[in-house]
Amino acid sequence: MAYLATPTATSEIIRKHGFHFQKKFGQNFLIDANILEKIIRAAKITKDDCVIEIGPGIGTMTQYLAEHAREVVAVEIDKNLIPILEDTLSEYDNVTIINDDILKVDIAGLADKKNGGRPVKIVANLPYYITTPIIMGLFESNVPLSSITIMVQKEVADRMQVGPGTKDYGALSLAVQYYAKPEVIMNVPPACFMPKPGVGSSVIRLTRFTKPPVDVADEKKFFSIIRSAFNQRRKTLANALANSSAIIREDGKNKKITRDEVCAILDQMGLSQTIRGEALTLEEFAKFSNLF
Ligand code: SAM
Repeated sequence: MAYLATPTATSEIIRKHGFHFQKKFGQNFLIDANILEKIIRAAKITKDDCVIEIGPGIGTMTQYLAEHAREVVAVEIDKNLIPILEDTLSEYDNVTIINDDILKVDIAGLADKKNGGRPVKIVANLPYYITTPIIMGLFESNVPLSSITIMVQKEVADRMQVGPGTKDYGALSLAVQYYAKPEVIMNVPPACFMPKPGVGSSVIRLTRFTKPPVDVADEKKFFSIIRSAFNQRRKTLANALANSSAIIREDGKNKKITRDEVCAILDQMGLSQTIRGEALTLEEFAKFSNLF
């Protein structure tokens, strides 16, 4: 039975193993069973599922995952947590613990090995210092996955689901919305963690599209343009791209984008030459990138 999601049980395990929290690994452990049950429900986990958990900590969420899924693979960077996980997960025979940095793990290979290449589900209370590289890595390396249900910093969850015309809209919003449908499930206050984080948190579910909602001819160019547009978000799109290192391929060669080329395409699209990147929708960025 899952038993770790209380302040007392968490403190006891930590004391028993002489564990010290490492701030550099973003270690804030969940101590609220109600929140954990809601995460499991939001991830729609069934006994058919293979789940990859990023950062199991002392195994609080892993216990719930093991009870609901067919198989769980948990990747934890902190070697001091491995003996604790072996202790807290000893009664489950469907959990594999990997001691590694998630950013270095071949997750597509893992999905292949553990789930025959069929889509896995990702569930995690993420280490907040690497939220964006984790999410982008999962999408860009084409890991077969059906959904990602994660606890992230509240501001980051907001950024993932907004559209143009808001201050939070940026490269992360566009990337997430190109690959998946984002839905914020709930906000979670600092008191639900040990130790308490200095920021509010939210659980967000990203349901992977089988096909992106817009047609993009060259994803590399599309994302390079988006990144450059938001690197200097207060500049016009024409100036931001002309000042950036965004490149396009022409006659088989790499070429920098010029201001005139941007303006010509904006004219063609019926958009103002002084428009900022932050005003363009996902569809407009796709069209803009395809026109190069
Ligand atoms: N899942 C646990 C829970 O909910 O109580 C712990 C969540 S805690 C916010 C984040 C976890 O990710 C920590 O256990 C931390 O050591 C681990 N972690 C940090 N960086 C990591 C990385 N690069 N790769 C794998 N795990 C990492």
